Amino acid sequence: MQNNNARRRKPPTSYIRNRENNRESLKTCGMLLIQTMMTRIAREGQGSKRLCMYMGEMLHSIFFLGYIHQDRLTPDDFFEICTSQQDMCNMFPEPFRKYNSHLPTRTPFSILLDMMEILYSTKRLKEELLHLLKEMKFPNPLHKPGSKQEQYYTLESTVICECSDSDSQKYYGASLCCRKGAAKVILIDLSCLKTWHKFISHAVMSFSSGAGDSIMFPESLRCQAYVRNWKTNVYEERKPCLNCRDLFNLQDANPDKVEYPFGNCAETECLSKLLINNQYMRENAVINNHTEENLEELRSSTEARLIKQLVKVGIEVSDNNLLFYAPFQIQTGD
Ligand SMILES: [Zn+2]
Repeated sequence: MQNNNARRRKPPTSYIRNRENNRESLKTCGMLLIQTMMTRIAREGQGSKRLCMYMGEMLHSIFFLGYIHQDRLTPDDFFEICTSQQDMCNMFPEPFRKYNSHLPTRTPFSILLDMMEILYSTKRLKEELLHLLKEMKFPNPLHKPGSKQEQYYTLESTVICECSDSDSQKYYGASLCCRKGAAKVILIDLSCLKTWHKFISHAVMSFSSGAGDSIMFPESLRCQAYVRNWKTNVYEERKPCLNCRDLFNLQDANPDKVEYPFGNCAETECLSKLLINNQYMRENAVINNHTEENLEELRSSTEARLIKQLVKVGIEVSDNNLLFYAPFQIQTGD
């Protein structure tokens, strides 16, 4: 016992250093994202009301991730290195008030994708996103080989996905950018309950709980993920992982073992957007065992697990009392 206590009092220096790097990285990336997007909106957004609403949602999502971080960052911590806090607070009072009472429905990077689409249309999205990421100089999010500890918390999603029905209107999705602690699982559960199309939520929740009801899409589906090569700043094609093969029946999967949870990948968000927006896909995609009762059962166990997780990270919630920060009503049903 004494040994254990002694160890608890004195964590190794490398642990302290990594933890500090991780915290500073989240703060820096949060501020970089906020400042860069504020400049973009002012320069190219021509005061678009929709862009401003996304900006508020992005601030909230960043503050929430900071708050549930192991070092519990507040908005004040993010603005330590910057003088614009009062201005931002006047412009976007809601995120400053609701970051620890209301839940985000997606990550800052997913919100960024929607903002980029408004600013540059889907045609230029990938190219403009690369410019933006180069400009922001986020640290390399991938941990160094041999050291799982030395990974940075950046807000960048390393993988994005592009999908469409026979190359018509394209949709974009991002992998989950929160790499540490409970944030990943919390965001997946929140997305299942609030954000994704019900087929996607059903598939993810069923695989997470063991049974596994997969979705079969029509043959006209086009779905391609890309990973950003951090050195060359180019998006390179990436095969689907085994989880995505199981969830969405995607072909030609990479056989490597997967270490992240179901729903983590960019394919999930992207295919959800396709189902929400494309009637043909919605009417012709098939999912096993999809009944309202089954879905409801999966939703209640997900909600119960989510509430437990939220309590652990210091967000107080009770049953039937999940409050969301959702400036746009997302249509996830039929
Ligand atoms: Zn995947």
